[in-house]
Amino acid sequence: MTPSIPTVKLNDGHDIPQLGFGVFKVDPDETERIVSDALEAGYRHLDTAAIYGNEEGVGRAIAKSGIPRDELFITTKLWNSDQGTQSAFDAIDLSLEKLGLDSVNLYLIHWPRPDLDRYLETWLAMEQIRDAGKATSIGVSNFHRSHLEKIIAGSSTVPAIDQLELHPTFQQRELRAFGAEHGIAIEAWGPLGQGKYDLFGMPAIAETAAAIGVTPAQVVIRWHLQSGIIVFPKSNSSDRMRANIDVFGFELSPEQMAAIDALDAGNRVGSDPETATF
Ligand code: NAD
Repeated sequence: MTPSIPTVKLNDGHDIPQLGFGVFKVDPDETERIVSDALEAGYRHLDTAAIYGNEEGVGRAIAKSGIPRDELFITTKLWNSDQGTQSAFDAIDLSLEKLGLDSVNLYLIHWPRPDLDRYLETWLAMEQIRDAGKATSIGVSNFHRSHLEKIIAGSSTVPAIDQLELHPTFQQRELRAFGAEHGIAIEAWGPLGQGKYDLFGMPAIAETAAAIGVTPAQVVIRWHLQSGIIVFPKSNSSDRMRANIDVFGFELSPEQMAAIDALDAGNRVGSDPETATF
């Protein structure tokens, strides 16, 4: 049975499924099969990006699935080298062609790249992309407070989303508070810490999983959901993708949530948006 996934209301009035499936580092040759498995498992929200090189595979899986377009929520992202006005217009057209879609549900600026100083100009282009009907909602990723403040002050659109590295040992409390104040929903990338540290062995997670009779990954996903965060873990394995969506039959208690909240340790596993130059 397809699990019923809660939605989050964005500041532009549109709804986003709170749990989805991410395809970072999914091999382009395997993407169609893996995304087909994810759709079969019940995922309806897919998170890709131009730089992942797998938009065509995502598009083929969508087309083959026969799932009505209005039941899917598709996100893609504008890569850093495409920041600027005309290059952003060209980039969305290419992404849509690869995905085989007329529009995406959400289009994000992938990184601010403050050294380029083009993200405000790019944001104004994103507004035009939305107004042209090529993206229903627009947002950003890896934007810090100063970057958000600059685009909010310089445009007429508050981003619907900021997609950030976020997991139990890197909880982004200040940016989440800023988002809550301004109506910007927060998405977590690397929600399982990308497997780069022993998240699943930490007592607050492992003991909670044992007590409830679920896996540590399910506990972490549940922590994100109960924290109001939008999340789309990635897995190539159909067993794991099924387990990762099977998180609506249990709840973490306030004490179990607090124990995971206490794990925050500034443990970034990806690049720092202030200094990233890729
Ligand atoms: P993730 O935290 O989802 O971790 C993925 C890793 O966890 C994989 O190695 C997988 O094998 C393992 N895993 C998945 N389910 C598991 C389970 N049930 N048990 C044990 N291990 C499990 O990391 P991610 O893929 O980097 O992040 C999720 C999505 O976020 C990406 O696929 C992508 O869509 C997005 N993302 C965005 C950015 C950005 O800059 N905006 C950066 C990275 C990722």
